[in-house]
Parts: sequence; C-alpha cells; structure tokens
Amino acid sequence: MQSSVQQVSVLGATGSIGLNTLDVVRRHPDKYQVFALSGHSQVEQLAQLSHEFQPKFVVISDEQHAARLKSLLSGQQTEVLSGASALELIASHDDVDIVMAAIVGAAGLLPNLAAAKAGKKVLLANKESLVMSGQLFMETVANSGATLLPIDSEHNAIYQCLPNGQMSPDLGVDKILLTASGGPFRMFSFDQLKTVTPAQAVAHPNWSMGHKISVDSASLMNKGLEFIEACWLFNCSAEQVDVVVHPESVIHSMVSYVDGSVLAQLGNPDMRTPIAYGMAWPDRLESGVKPLDLFEVAQLNFEKPDTERFPCLKLAKQSFMEGGCAPAVLNAANEVAVDAFLNDRISFLSIADVVEGTLNDIENQKAECLETILSADLRARAKASELLQSITGK
Ligand code: NAD
Ligand code: MG
Repeated sequence: MQSSVQQVSVLGATGSIGLNTLDVVRRHPDKYQVFALSGHSQVEQLAQLSHEFQPKFVVISDEQHAARLKSLLSGQQTEVLSGASALELIASHDDVDIVMAAIVGAAGLLPNLAAAKAGKKVLLANKESLVMSGQLFMETVANSGATLLPIDSEHNAIYQCLPNGQMSPDLGVDKILLTASGGPFRMFSFDQLKTVTPAQAVAHPNWSMGHKISVDSASLMNKGLEFIEACWLFNCSAEQVDVVVHPESVIHSMVSYVDGSVLAQLGNPDMRTPIAYGMAWPDRLESGVKPLDLFEVAQLNFEKPDTERFPCLKLAKQSFMEGGCAPAVLNAANEVAVDAFLNDRISFLSIADVVEGTLNDIENQKAECLETILSADLRARAKASELLQSITGK
C-alpha cells in the first residue's frame, strides 16, 4: 500500500486522456495531488483546471498564451511556464511521483524520455513516443529503474494478463492477441472509403477520444502503432502479436499460453479503467467506470483485419520489421497526413498513400540515438508535406 499522497504531473491535461486522469484524481484526493498540468493552447481550460487542482506548475506551449494564462491565474500560487523545456521540467521534477504521458504525437517524446530518465512511474498513453524510439525508450527505463505502465487499453489489458506484466520464454506465453474495434469504417467498401469525411472518421463507435487517434482508429494506423508498441513493451517479435478485430471493444486484449489457456481482460470501453490501474498499481482503485453487464453485452464477435481496405496496419508492421528509424518516419508522415485530412486537404485514402510514399523515399537509418530519430522525424515531415502538395496541387 502507498502510504503518502502521490504527486502527479499530467502532460496533455486538456485532452481526452488528461481529463479522464483528472477525473480519477478528483475521486481520490487522499491518495493523489496534482503537481503540474500541461496543455498546448487551451488557456481558459488550463486556468479552470488550475483553479480546481491548485498545481505547483502549469505549462502551455507558447509565450503569448502563457502571458494570458498568468493574468487569469494572478493571485494564485501556481507558476505558469511555457515551452518544451518546461514540459521536461514537470516530467522529471524531484517532487513528482507519477507522470501521465498524454500529449498526442511526437511532441510527447522529449518529456516522456525525461520522465523515464528521472526514474518516475510513467503512465504511458502517448504511444507515438514508443513507436519513434522503442529501443532507446525501453533502455532508458531499464537504466533508470523507472516503472513503465501502459495506459493504452489494449496494452494495459495485456499487462494485466501477463505474470508480472512481463513476457519471457520460460513463462509459456504463446501469443499476444491485440484486439481492434475495426473503427467506424469497418463495414465500408473501398469505394465508400473514398469519400468519408473527417466528421465521420472522428465519430468512433465505442470510444470517445482526441481527433488524431480517432482518425488513426478509422484507418487502422492506430492498431499498427499499437502493434509496434506491444512489441517494444513486452519484448516480443512481430510473429508473436496477432491483431483480432472485435467490434464490441469489451475484451481489451488477450494473451494465449502454450497450454491452450487464453487470458483476457474485459470491461466497458472507458479509459478510466486503465488509468486507475496505472495510478494505483500494484493496488486497485475505484475509477467511476460502470460495472460490465455481460447480459447487456450478450455477444462477442471476432474477425480478421482487412489490410487491403486498411493498408496502414500493414505499413506499420512492415516499418517495425524493417527497424531503425522506419517507425519514426511512418509516425511523422502519418501525423502530417492525418492533420491534412482533418483540415479537408486530402481524402481519407490518401493518408496511407502519403505514409507509403514517405517510407519509400526516405533512406532508413539505424535508430542509434535521439538526434538520429529526431532528424528522421523532421525529414519525414518535409517529405510528407511535399507529397501532400503533389496530391492537392497547392
Ligand atoms: P487529445 O487530442 O484529446 O489531447 C492531446 C493533449 O496533448 C492536449 O492536452 C493538447 O493540448 C496536448 N498537445 C497537443 N499538441 C501538443 C504539442 N505540440 N505540445 C504540447 N502539448 C500538445 O488526445 P488524447 O485522445 O487524449 O490522446 C493523447 C495520447 O494518448 C495520444 O498519444 C493517444 O494515442 C493516446 N491514447 C489515447 C486514448 C484515448 O482514449 N483518448 C487511448 C489510448 C491512447
Ligand atoms: Mg488503444
């Protein structure tokens, strides 16, 4: 049992995962206190959250936003900071126990690495940082003795189904069965996919999430990123992870063992379950999630993923098997393409074209150090933007 109150930094506090995390914290003021909050540009929301949680620090990306936030928080104890280095500060501060890594995209990489290096209990929602720098990230965790707990619901489920959250040959694990809802376009024909809109893509049937991950779920890139995430987190090969489409999102993933046993973790699709699991680990915590009513669920269905209609899953797997900086290139190109799709610049199907074109054009390099990874990320963004221009003519 944890005895004292744990200090929590919530990176990406204004997002879907961040707000769910704060909801869990709100339920347990005797166990957790907010040390710091961060958000990209949501000045009013950060002011409101700071009034409620009274953190020591609040971080916002740019200086002008910081000036407005300071004026909204005048007379408060909370110190307002801005910029990337401030994110690293609140992720690694000596007084912090738990870091919720819930910034979206590559922007989360440096603060997440800072938290890992500082030996924190890192609750990892930001899968992109692990996709970009899997080996470096896992080595950093091992060297510092940080505790890394997956918050992505599938990986949290797998963690719960593995003895001590670890996968090693002598434990008799055969396979990881990574479940996927299939997203809002699971039943769409290739022709129908040509004209889907951002509004349709962000309307996920089971989960309420930020826009970027919702589009990734619709294209199955999310499952591709999660495939890579699983290989790094659980130290397993690509052959040991199977993707299983399970439209109800009640089973959050499974582990199959050599004796024929399959262990699954079930629950309502509500991120407060994996968040509360991570916060309280190795204990359990009431999270506010409705108990699962199996009679209401009634049926669980399973299908194979279709990588013809959803090529992003295949591209992500290939990039992992290629290794080096290929997953970082895939991730960067996808971020650029998804942003363009959300801004009505390209069609849904062009997302995969931009990612594939970028992967084909950028020469792969070993992911030896952070600088190499960040430079691959930058080159991929430039190439993806070029490809966008050739698609849109602008
Ligand atoms: P979101 O878009 O709702 O929130 C993103 C947060 O990051 C916001 O606080 C935003 O202000 C901040 N942010 C955005 N760009 C930034 C930048 N350049 N610099 C600093 N901060 C920035 O996203 P979300 O749905 O909460 O997802 C967050 C992360 O968690 C993603 O990596 C996602 O893949 C992962 N995740 C989310 C869910 C979910 O249910 N939402 C589930 C599993 C994993
Ligand atoms: Mg997930």
